[in-house]
Amino acid sequence: MTGTLYIIATPIGNLEDITYRAVRILGEVDLIAAEDTRHSLKLLNHFNISKPMTSYFDHNQQFKGERILNSLRQGRSVALISDAGTPCVSDPGFQLVRAAAQEGIAVIPVPGACAAVAAISGSGLPSDIFTFAGFPPARQGKRRTFLADLTGLPGTLVLYEAPHRLEETLRDIGEVLGERSIVVARELTKIHEEFIRGAITDVMAATTPDKARGEVVILIAPGEQVRQAAEPLDKLLRKLLVDDKLSVKDAARKAAELTGVSRNEAYSEAIRQRNDGVE
Ligand code: SAM
Repeated sequence: MTGTLYIIATPIGNLEDITYRAVRILGEVDLIAAEDTRHSLKLLNHFNISKPMTSYFDHNQQFKGERILNSLRQGRSVALISDAGTPCVSDPGFQLVRAAAQEGIAVIPVPGACAAVAAISGSGLPSDIFTFAGFPPARQGKRRTFLADLTGLPGTLVLYEAPHRLEETLRDIGEVLGERSIVVARELTKIHEEFIRGAITDVMAATTPDKARGEVVILIAPGEQVRQAAEPLDKLLRKLLVDDKLSVKDAARKAAELTGVSRNEAYSEAIRQRNDGVE
């Protein structure tokens, strides 16, 4: 009988943001694999959890992954945690999860804090469709290409960024994606948590040097041009319903994805067309 691999979210600042289930499972597993064992020890000590630990980070994941898999093969249960938030979200973990899944080892996520999700939920930007794109590349040329590739996507864009690169990345966003509403979510769940909202120039003016510290998530509102460039909703739906013979539900979902309108709006239009006799 193989063991279970638990993927456990830990707080992104406020220690109260850990679930009862996470604390229980961390106290029950045979081994905790942590991105930085010294960093995670503080969290574990806070909750009086004392367990064997091993490190698992970007540069040792191949070798350590094999050792963790061996423990799982021998029936031991392992918890994977990262320095903060949800493992595998801009953090190490997915190769281990993939390898475990390929061997039929049970993988159980224990959800909790995630900066991207906390940021979108407090941003006030459209959240029916959003794209999480992780960290933009550090070099300007690659960053601009990365941003250009995101231009046509519907919905809100969510990026992680290092505080010392915030200003240059905001500048590139303005130049590559054009004038859009921006939200910078800083220091989420911590004492100095704040949401800086506005046009990109206002947000840049508000991110003074003292704000160049602390962790940030950048959220970019959908661009008007995305919707204007897209095919009109009614025409697109007709095509999906008639030519592609999709159901009302599937056609509405696809149309919402392609145009950036809400699923409800697309669904109402699809129903209207169906009722009007579009076969
Ligand atoms: N796995 C983590 C998660 O679930 O959010 C993300 C890890 S990634 C290495 C770290 C980045 O997440 C930071 O550079 C920042 O962009 C974002 N982040 C983490 N904690 C944050 C916080 N408290 N407030 C704002 N952003 C945060």
